Amino acid sequence: MAKLRTIKPLVATIKPLVGRMPGDEKTRLRERDQQVGWRSWYKTARWQQLRMKVLIRDLFTCQMVGCGKVEGDTSQLVADHKIPHRGDEALFWDESNLQCLCKTCHDKLKQKEERTAWSSR
Ligand SMILES: [Zn+2]
Repeated sequence: MAKLRTIKPLVATIKPLVGRMPGDEKTRLRERDQQVGWRSWYKTARWQQLRMKVLIRDLFTCQMVGCGKVEGDTSQLVADHKIPHRGDEALFWDESNLQCLCKTCHDKLKQKEERTAWSSR
């Protein structure tokens, strides 16, 4: 019976792979539609205010270790969620979960996170 017990957790970690494979365009688009709900939060005045508050708090300085770029053009700055909110309202609106990143660092970080998410599934 010991064997069974060790196999079970493995199955649980493998399962999500079935529903979602990298390159499965249909699934990706469907999941994107499901995200439309929280994506619209980014369009609210509340978010614009919070974003600006974070950028000012961090002095328009990229918080990425080793970067520290000061960017005067706020369109080149991103208020990034340190812990991905994945639709969690509390995390989304939590100012302490936000940091100012330059666009370059933000894009690099997101790409890395996505790769990590894939490989850990
Ligand atoms: Zn940066």
